[in-house]
Amino acid sequence: MENLNLLPESYVQAAWFVGALLFIFGLKGMSSPATARKGIVWAGYGMVLAIVATFCVPGMQNFALIAAALVIGGAVAWISGKKVKMTDMPQMVAIYNGMGGGAAAAIAAIEFAKGDAHSTIATILAVLGAMIGSVSFTGSCIAWAKLQGVIKKAPRLPAQNVINTLLLLVTIGLGVMMILNAPADNNLIIGFFIVALVLGFIVTLPIGGADMPVVISLFNAFTGLAVGFEGYVLGNPALIIAGIVVGAAGTLLTLLMAKAMNRSLSNILFVPMDAGGGEQQAIEGTMKEIGSVDAAALMRYASKVIIVPGYGMAVAHAQHKIWEMVEILEKEGVEVKFAIHPVAGRMPGHMNVLLAEAGVPYDKIFDLDEINAEFAQADVALVIGANDVVNPAARTNKSSPIYGMPILAADQAQNVIVIKRGKGTGYSGIENALFYTENCKMLYGDAQPMVGEIIANLKTMG
Ligand code: NDP
Repeated sequence: MENLNLLPESYVQAAWFVGALLFIFGLKGMSSPATARKGIVWAGYGMVLAIVATFCVPGMQNFALIAAALVIGGAVAWISGKKVKMTDMPQMVAIYNGMGGGAAAAIAAIEFAKGDAHSTIATILAVLGAMIGSVSFTGSCIAWAKLQGVIKKAPRLPAQNVINTLLLLVTIGLGVMMILNAPADNNLIIGFFIVALVLGFIVTLPIGGADMPVVISLFNAFTGLAVGFEGYVLGNPALIIAGIVVGAAGTLLTLLMAKAMNRSLSNILFVPMDAGGGEQQAIEGTMKEIGSVDAAALMRYASKVIIVPGYGMAVAHAQHKIWEMVEILEKEGVEVKFAIHPVAGRMPGHMNVLLAEAGVPYDKIFDLDEINAEFAQADVALVIGANDVVNPAARTNKSSPIYGMPILAADQAQNVIVIKRGKGTGYSGIENALFYTENCKMLYGDAQPMVGEIIANLKTMG
């Protein structure tokens, strides 16, 4: 198809630049739940502008193919975005992230295959982008398969770390050969991509347990870097800026999450949580049940209640009922606060988003560091569908897969009420000693109807 050549190149560059600014404003908006929706929309406008401008690049061809890709990709994203359950978000993030990495690698592959002469710096960046993008692509696909339950185990190869290191060295070696022999021949290009794709696959396969969110965030940072590098090769400032922003944000998030789990990045990548066998200590005591009437009374006559929401709240869609309950308690003069663990739920900010959606004011929501000291003064800690984030084994049991992860100190409250459906374990698959302690009572049932029952009982208490 003919080159449309609608605008002079300077207009295209200016449009890309404005698109990149919109990404940055969008990201700024996403830093607070209050402005997050607006931020997403701004970034969306930036993306539309960048895409439209790309159609006008002088020399651009194959418009029908690009339009077909946009329609197919846009339709799939629209439908899956509408249908995805909140609890399946991490998988969606993983797979979209993988697509970003794959796209960056594909751009590099096309540039290599064309065999055009590039400056040495552009060739180096293209190779780096191709390598990082390929690793991110297969790694994110594995992350998706694990979170989706398609891959259930985290098989670990004998001498896994040696294999990882060898594959990494071979990929780097082939990349260096491509730079030294640019334009490289097709066999070298194909060999390089195969080894890089296998590297992402092999490195991610044994990673399991609660480490997966950190890994997804790391791949997100990788994808950003790869896209930024390929943006340089294509001379596209929107790609460069978007890539750098994603790379920087992803790196920060990765480090924050690793810190929240008290694990170093190398530890996450090379020493999977369940590698040590995750021997479980025998837990003494028995689980004691409580009914919704007594649970309501405990909170109605308390002066301070701290609510710890977890993944189960998301599954049960209980956030609206919880907020209704809090409003009743507050009318009765009870002070109620929410305590949010950085990895509660299944994605960063999961609980904050759900509570914000239910209308819980931000000044009632506290991070682990802000609230942990207050549990000792709380009459009731109400744990709703949370498990790992309140498991004291993280403090005391060195053989526990979550040992070292900072936890919410719910066990230090006078009374602990735990709403969960049965004896199911949390994401890490281990027992929780909190449930067996003297001050802890279990309110068995789905979180939404259970909180509904508490509300009904509170209303009868007047
Ligand atoms: P957990 O996964 O530890 O525990 C959730 C608990 O909720 C389960 O024990 C389950 O027990 C209960 N539950 C499930 N459905 C319901 C329901 N409908 N009603 C009531 N209870 C329910 O959740 P946490 O939030 O405490 O911890 C998060 C874990 O997930 C951490 O290990 C974290 O590392 C990991 N993770 C975090 C990510 C993130 O970015 N935030 C991403 C991926 C993993 P039962 O079956 O008995 O009801």
